[in-house]
Amino acid sequence: MKKIYLGLALLTSLETSAFVLLNPKYELQDPDTAKVKISREGCEANGISNSKIEAGIQWAIEFWNDVPESRLKLKYGGVSSASLTDSRIPQNEIIVGCGSLPSINILGATQHDRDNGSARVKMNEAVYTGSYNENNFIGTMTHEIGHGIGLYHSNDPASIMTYREHGWVDLPSYISQDDMDGVIYLYPNEKSAEGFMGSCSSFAGDETADFSFIIEALLSFLSVIGVSFILRKLLPFN
Ligand SMILES: [Zn+2]
Repeated sequence: MKKIYLGLALLTSLETSAFVLLNPKYELQDPDTAKVKISREGCEANGISNSKIEAGIQWAIEFWNDVPESRLKLKYGGVSSASLTDSRIPQNEIIVGCGSLPSINILGATQHDRDNGSARVKMNEAVYTGSYNENNFIGTMTHEIGHGIGLYHSNDPASIMTYREHGWVDLPSYISQDDMDGVIYLYPNEKSAEGFMGSCSSFAGDETADFSFIIEALLSFLSVIGVSFILRKLLPFN
């Protein structure tokens, strides 16, 4: 049934230019205090220091917090006690680290822990070993953290949540209106949200599992090899 649901979500998302929610039942536990942390293992084994991960997280936080009409205020939380391989993710955390994913063409994966209102972002070690590119790393991480707060892919090419060609050669200098709309929809500032909800054209995909999986493929390499392709599967991390 999940594959059918995802198929429907894909078809629908191709026909809309608005943001998409993967799982209507998922959101961060508390958007005012949610922390983005480096996972216990980080990316040290891949030659990427914690300070470089922190730089990416800080960039992503500044990007996603730049929505005055939303109460989302992510904060950097240092190194988490949790590993990417732990069965549960601590409440209200998005943890970021590196690990092995099934293909070098997969850049990263985000997994929700719906019950804890938390998420984990796994950057694929195969992609970053030996070919580290800071903009690719930060752009992909920001996109993945967008999944971590509850957004899925957008058909708007200006959105950092786009699944279309996106080389991340230059990081976006500001957050797109589509990304802002998604953040406001998920975490409205109650005083300014009035009247917004009724006009929103988002699509909420259906996902019945406690954990949702989003696997990224080729986002950083689309502009290089000229192929527009996204692989999305329900796969466990290990
Ligand atoms: Zn994605």
